[in-house]
Amino acid sequence: MEDAVTFDVYAKAFAPHAEFSALVVTANVYGSELKARAAANEAKQLGGQVLIGKHIGWAQARAIVAKVAGRSATEIMQAGYFPSETSQYCSEHDLHYGGCLGCHVCNNFFVP
Ligand SMILES: [Zn+2]
Repeated sequence: MEDAVTFDVYAKAFAPHAEFSALVVTANVYGSELKARAAANEAKQLGGQVLIGKHIGWAQARAIVAKVAGRSATEIMQAGYFPSETSQYCSEHDLHYGGCLGCHVCNNFFVP
């Protein structure tokens, strides 16, 4: 039996950079503040997406997205999948996921 699915949240850089950087540091997914700030800087310079939630439950993922709504483009991924990877998408749950079994939230196989 597989474990229920958790989620990763990615966000694009937004202004002011100090607030974006603080968000990435607070997310605590890079192991150190220095690495978090470096990731935030890279996202700002390259326009890429930065991880702001890792292996979290659905409610927490939604809360993070709500927190930055209107300031940043966010993506919720099934944990372990990257925004650049080919994945399936559930428009009802705004979730990118892998596999052929359908959206894990629709299927009720996720960490709430
Ligand atoms: Zn769904």
